[in-house]
Amino acid sequence: MSNKPPMVDLTDTTVLRHTAEQAIELYHSFDGEPVAAAATHEQLLQRFGQSLSNDGVDPGQVIDDLLTWSRDGMVTAGGPRFFGWVIGGSLPVAIAADWILSTWEQNGAIYQTSPACATAEEVAGEWLKEVLRLPRECSYAMVTGCQMAHFTALAAARQRLYWDRGIDVSTEGLYGAPPLRVVAGPHLHESLIRAMRFLGLGSNALVKTTLDDQGRMDLASLEQILRQDPAAPTVINLMAGDLNTGGCDPYREVCALAEQYGAWVHVDGAFGLWVNASEKHRHMLDGVELAHSWATDGHKWLQLPFDHGYAFVRDREAHHASMTMTAGYFIDADGAGRDQMNWNPEWSRRPRGVIAYAALRNLGKSGIAHIVDECCRFAERLVNEIGALAGAEVLSPARMNQGMVRFLDPDGDHDAKTDAVVEAIRAEGTAWFGPTTWNSMRAMRISVCNFRSTDADIDATVSAVERVLAAHG
Ligand SMILES: *Cc1c(COP(=O)(O)O)cnc(C)c1O
Repeated sequence: MSNKPPMVDLTDTTVLRHTAEQAIELYHSFDGEPVAAAATHEQLLQRFGQSLSNDGVDPGQVIDDLLTWSRDGMVTAGGPRFFGWVIGGSLPVAIAADWILSTWEQNGAIYQTSPACATAEEVAGEWLKEVLRLPRECSYAMVTGCQMAHFTALAAARQRLYWDRGIDVSTEGLYGAPPLRVVAGPHLHESLIRAMRFLGLGSNALVKTTLDDQGRMDLASLEQILRQDPAAPTVINLMAGDLNTGGCDPYREVCALAEQYGAWVHVDGAFGLWVNASEKHRHMLDGVELAHSWATDGHKWLQLPFDHGYAFVRDREAHHASMTMTAGYFIDADGAGRDQMNWNPEWSRRPRGVIAYAALRNLGKSGIAHIVDECCRFAERLVNEIGALAGAEVLSPARMNQGMVRFLDPDGDHDAKTDAVVEAIRAEGTAWFGPTTWNSMRAMRISVCNFRSTDADIDATVSAVERVLAAHG
């Protein structure tokens, strides 16, 4: 009696070619599929939630099941008519580089674990600074997203601000140190607060300014906060692209004020920093290069698959001191090449900068600028054309690639009407938008961040919204 199964061939590579073909088909299907997910959690759980097999499953079967089971359980965020959140698409070259990176199985911890990847990452770091027009002397880290870029940049800020007060937080910790405050406008992204929590600063360290009549950090309010406690170690967080309005802050003026108080200026430019790639739009970011640190994403406007974020820090010494680590088993590169370990919070890591390298090389500077310009133009079209439909109203005109509209209820309950219409648009399937609350009003966010969107997609989306509005009376 034998119940021994036929062994699954773990080195069978036919799954790779098979998957490449499936992936190409899938990639094109994003143009046509309903954007919203249809499957319920219960249905998905039923498909995925099998008991773990004892004997293994053929790799081709595993991949086919993944693809079939998930098909109607996806929000087609990689497609051209997804206008929710800020997600972005994936360039074929980036997907291909991602596959190669997985095939290489390289650890991007130190130079010696992968000299080629470390070198490609080093060049990508320089290219990113060039495209984003940040100071060439900046150090950088290639992390998983803007959240971790905040974490990295704020760790460097914390190092410097306490060094200035005779404390080395890397050895002494925060014990007995004077509290550090983070000053931000009410338009901050919550990922900053989480980074503060991770760094032992606590969310109570956040002090909020007000906004001026253009939705930018109010300078008088900032100055009042700084003056109240001029000696406190202080980080000021500015937005390069408010998630709702696409708005920017007065970088030049804030940096001048920060200098008087020895404060560190950090910029959350998750998507908006990419506007610096565009000659047409970069005026919005005037003075942004004067800050001390910047956080941005590669998986949004650069069109990389997840997960890519970048931190840039002017103060290399503080950045290095906050992250550097060594171990007995490291092999010294004798000063040749870059050990990412000295700049990143991770230990073992995917050398993800190679994917940025591939995408930047594929796009070129004008390719990036073109994507930025087109997304901004499409956002303007969507906001204006949806806002002009009967029963709709523009709440925030398109700035950058963001804007907001709402839908009006004859009986005055605009919030309920807006929520109902946004949901009905998603159910209709042509396009995907998300709701938000802004200035105490429910609104529909419009965000364009995918290089695959075309004028035809905008036309189809506006027609779909018009149909939904007509059906909603
Ligand atoms: C997306 C986003 C973040 C968070 O970035 P992750 O890549 O999700 O970590 C932070 N700030 C802004 C403005 C964002 O749009």
